[in-house]
Amino acid sequence: SIPLTFFAGIGGASHKGILIKGGNHMDALAKLSTVVFDKTGTLTHGSFEVEAVHPETIDEKELLHLAAHVERFSTHPIAVALRNAYPNEADSCVVTDTKEIAGQGITAVINGKTVSVGNDKMMATLGIKPHACKLCAHHTGTTVHVAIDGQYAGHILIADQLKDDARKAIEQLKRLGVQRTVMLTGDRDEAARQVAEQTGVTEYHAELLPADKVSHVERLLKDKQTGTSLAFVGDGINDAPVLARADVGIAMGALGSDAAIEAADVVLMDDKPSKIALAIRLSRRTIFIAK
Ligand code: ADP
Ligand code: MG
Repeated sequence: SIPLTFFAGIGGASHKGILIKGGNHMDALAKLSTVVFDKTGTLTHGSFEVEAVHPETIDEKELLHLAAHVERFSTHPIAVALRNAYPNEADSCVVTDTKEIAGQGITAVINGKTVSVGNDKMMATLGIKPHACKLCAHHTGTTVHVAIDGQYAGHILIADQLKDDARKAIEQLKRLGVQRTVMLTGDRDEAARQVAEQTGVTEYHAELLPADKVSHVERLLKDKQTGTSLAFVGDGINDAPVLARADVGIAMGALGSDAAIEAADVVLMDDKPSKIALAIRLSRRTIFIAK
């Protein structure tokens, strides 16, 4: 009798845009006590837009041009924003030696110059001190620094937006008895703090490398009460390892990467974080009927 009820439950969920890859995942969903979220692309849209360009050693157009070209082969949402802001109009740039560093940024050689685009951490590893500006300090989005041949060249401010249902998603989880809602991000603390406040997650950790996200999830797995489970929700960009480590890996289906969709136990077809609460309710109902 168990398989039949679970089939019905999985079928019902799929009609609501929630793909559950097996009855055992419904069990884990019903017992969630900890839900860990990635920020970019999960709680926020992850479709960044260039807001301002602050060049220092070259002009604005040239700074954007270099940044867009360094990001030519990257699938990161920041790369997409930079490329959109600088459509390659019959460009004859030669881009070689591309090296993307997860959670930091990207470096490439463009027409003989080594250009690096990334966050404070990336600049620190290059031994470059990024110049902060007044606008950046109050800015809610991400600041991307650019260095050319080891010299600081300026920065680009890019903004992201909270998903409409992000706050509701966290509220509903709390109401269903999920005690811990945690946000993990590679973004800087200020940007993370604002999203944490706006959504009401119980805790957040910023400036994390992909490996740091795994250690946080391992700590939270140890912390949770026995008999309960932990879910990680992500879009799969830099977070496939954590998706695999959680009791339930939940991936965004529309924007998410193919690798994430494959690694996940549950896929939210419309990328709405509020579907997690619905998945819990459907799972609890299915298990109740099965018993
Ligand atoms: P999140 O944890 O929010 O999903 P990521 O781990 O994907 O973020 O990236 C963390 C940070 O690393 C970004 O906020 C950005 O500063 C930097 N970064 C990562 N990849 C790139 C890239 N291709 N270009 C520029 N910056 C990048
Ligand atoms: Mg991410």
